[in-house]
Amino acid sequence: MNRREFLGTVATVVGGQNKKLDAKNRSGSSVKLKGRKNSGIKRWDVITIGNLSRNRYWGESEDRGVRSAICSCTVISGDGFHIIVDPSLKDEKAMATELDRRTGLGLNDMDAVFVTHQHGDHHYGLKHFPKAKWLAGAEVAAGLNRSGRYSKPVAPVGDRIFEAVEVLSTPGHTMDHHSLRFDCKELSVVIAGDAVATQDFWVERMGYFNTVDFDLSARTMDKIASIADIVVPGHDNYFLSL
Ligand SMILES: [Zn+2]
Repeated sequence: MNRREFLGTVATVVGGQNKKLDAKNRSGSSVKLKGRKNSGIKRWDVITIGNLSRNRYWGESEDRGVRSAICSCTVISGDGFHIIVDPSLKDEKAMATELDRRTGLGLNDMDAVFVTHQHGDHHYGLKHFPKAKWLAGAEVAAGLNRSGRYSKPVAPVGDRIFEAVEVLSTPGHTMDHHSLRFDCKELSVVIAGDAVATQDFWVERMGYFNTVDFDLSARTMDKIASIADIVVPGHDNYFLSL
């Protein structure tokens, strides 16, 4: 089953009570895919599926963390480039192992690293990619550079990376937060970072406890919903934007 058929099947199941399941027509007429076919993006792969340090939807208090947080880390592969988004793992060997396990690629195969925002868990692994370009929204880049945490500077990005990947301002969780959007095989994919914490937070348009502006965060999620078929949240597996 290819991704389009999978999406159609899920859409049919999710799509409503008065819709009969039709084995011959599972293309899911209730879903119109938003992405373009020929976008220059060949594939995308989740490297680490993230988790939160505390999760209100699991009955946990937001007062303190109960486990280490890992962010969702994704590789976008296009014509002649690989971009790794939010390198998640502090340990170099672990980062290399996960990258290899999910893509067969090595740390030095990455051409660029994109960091969505300044929270530490989203750039724990940045230093493992010394040969790649380090990229972030202008304010995030300036903040990381000011921190003195890294010897190599993070460069501010414009509206696009390698032409095929759009950079979106997605404020709310932090005011300078940026996400990425691209088309792949007719799907519009948004790598949201912490603009979306997990699928449960998405459903309620809820910000994570450390969100700066909860109303703005909810509006940003609405904006993402209007343009995405697939959302890769900051701390969960990817899901359909229905
Ligand atoms: Zn964050």
